[in-house]
Amino acid sequence: MNIETLQSKLAKYVLASPGNAIQADWALREEIVGTPMFDAPIVGCASADDPLFARIKAEDKILGETFRLPNDWLPSAKSIISIFYPFSEQMRKSNWDNLGVPSDEWLHGRIEGHEFIHATDRLVESWLRDEGFETCIPALEPSLIIHKREPEEAVGRPMFVSSWSERHVAFTAGLGTFGLSAHLITRVGKAGRFGSIITNTPLEPTPRPYGDDPYAYCTRCGACTKRCPVDALSLEHGKDFQTCWVYMEETKIRFKPRYGCGKCQHLVPCETGIPNKRFVA
Ligand code: SF4
Ligand code: SF4
Repeated sequence: MNIETLQSKLAKYVLASPGNAIQADWALREEIVGTPMFDAPIVGCASADDPLFARIKAEDKILGETFRLPNDWLPSAKSIISIFYPFSEQMRKSNWDNLGVPSDEWLHGRIEGHEFIHATDRLVESWLRDEGFETCIPALEPSLIIHKREPEEAVGRPMFVSSWSERHVAFTAGLGTFGLSAHLITRVGKAGRFGSIITNTPLEPTPRPYGDDPYAYCTRCGACTKRCPVDALSLEHGKDFQTCWVYMEETKIRFKPRYGCGKCQHLVPCETGIPNKRFVA
């Protein structure tokens, strides 16, 4: 198994899977039944002893001590497989308009789509275990910690701290860099979701064309700031996590049992690719 083989096997599965579509028994509208949620995923790999992991844990302004290193999750860890599942064109375009209202399709992609991702991560895990390797999916571990700092504690630091961060792992695994909106911009854009699997499979790490620059792919064009319904994004101050979070909590009431917004992921230059031309071949 290598990353290219895994990516190709995974793409075939995702594109053909009936589970990667809005289902009749939970669709918010009949006419969106059958809409695919994700395009072919892209896959990157980080070495378990990449020094960036220790830095993520050591620096409070990144994640700090709550973050658990790969070997804390799986003592035999050698590699971390990071997977980006880009939203399908139908998902993305459905969320271009109506800034105060997430589209029905996108809400499904956010909630039921995430369940599909978890099931797909479990499938990748089974492929590795069938070859005799050990695995751990931190996002599905009961010991995963996610907590929100009080606003005064979050000054100059992330509002949410977690013992595992899909975006930081994806950055380390060469999949992309952060944007002003705090999403990760990959070579197929930032509109999508992440998953990851820790394993003792020896895999070649994916090179990071951006070095250690966390914002290399973002041009600071400011387009995402104009997409936010609550002005949580600005070129001067970046992302106001508290304002975004308050709005997100409101959507939990309005769109129960689903929630979300995602407007800053869509109709922006980094929606489906890297806008910084320095990094585009
Ligand atoms: S829309 Fe522009 S400023 Fe916002 S994350 Fe994308 S590239 Fe950066
Ligand atoms: S997800 Fe948050 S930051 Fe992005 S547009 Fe919505 S409220 Fe604004």
